[in-house]
Amino acid sequence: MIEFKDVTKRYPDGTVAVDNLSLRIPSHQITVFVGPSGCGKTTSLRMINRTIERSSGTISIDDEDINSQDAVQLRRGIGYVIQHAGLFPHKTVLDNVATVPKLLGWDKAKTRSTALELLERVGLDLKLADRYPAQLSGGQQQRVGVARALAADPKILLMDEPFSAVDPIVRNQLQEELLRLQRDIGKTMVFVTHDIDEAIKLGDNVAVLRVGGKLAQFAPPAELLAN
Ligand code: ADP
Ligand code: ADP
Repeated sequence: MIEFKDVTKRYPDGTVAVDNLSLRIPSHQITVFVGPSGCGKTTSLRMINRTIERSSGTISIDDEDINSQDAVQLRRGIGYVIQHAGLFPHKTVLDNVATVPKLLGWDKAKTRSTALELLERVGLDLKLADRYPAQLSGGQQQRVGVARALAADPKILLMDEPFSAVDPIVRNQLQEELLRLQRDIGKTMVFVTHDIDEAIKLGDNVAVLRVGGKLAQFAPPAELLAN
């Protein structure tokens, strides 16, 4: 479980992006942060891997304050996927996914088989494994981004608008596959989107934020719909 307790983020210019946020993100489920542009979704997400540092309050993972850990160590256990995949352009698909296993010193055979297995899991045609990112469609790049984020077998996967830049048909496919992936691997996933339909489709729980970074609702989709 990831727990936010009275978490506030105030940027140096005085902007309060997240205001006194408290919630519990259950393990092995998908929790979605949804709300209009500027309501603090990305800031909330990035405080979990400490690519943004909170100003006050506490964030803990399995009851341990994330600030009691070295940030690099913390990030090793947390996969991160962003909107335009952010793949390394000079590396092939396979080498993108293999980057972290290589850093961790895995042997070549294990690195390769793990990378191929992950690419298969995210539904990428393995014929594309030796291509460079620029030779892939947007949807294919996002699949590779997810595979890369899973390479070190993190407990947590953070996803920031991962499907927002792909066309609606591909987006729908990627959503279905994320749900299937989640059933298969059971990671704790935190997913940011501005699209309420996407939030309802993917979330086991949905945190609705409003501008000013305040939590408006936190509930399973069925309960949100009832309101
Ligand atoms: P969202 O992801 O919901 O669009 P963000 O978390 O990106 O929202 O931003 C929340 C608020 O914080 C916005 O008002 C944004 O302009 C502001 N903000 C984001 N990053 C910075 C920054 N580095 N410095 C100052 N304000 C920022
Ligand atoms: P999408 O509509 O999903 O963005 P694209 O029109 O970008 O798809 O690509 C369609 C197909 O063409 C994909 O299978 C992709 O792998 C392939 N493709 C796209 N760009 C290139 C390229 N520069 N070289 C080789 N194949 C490419």
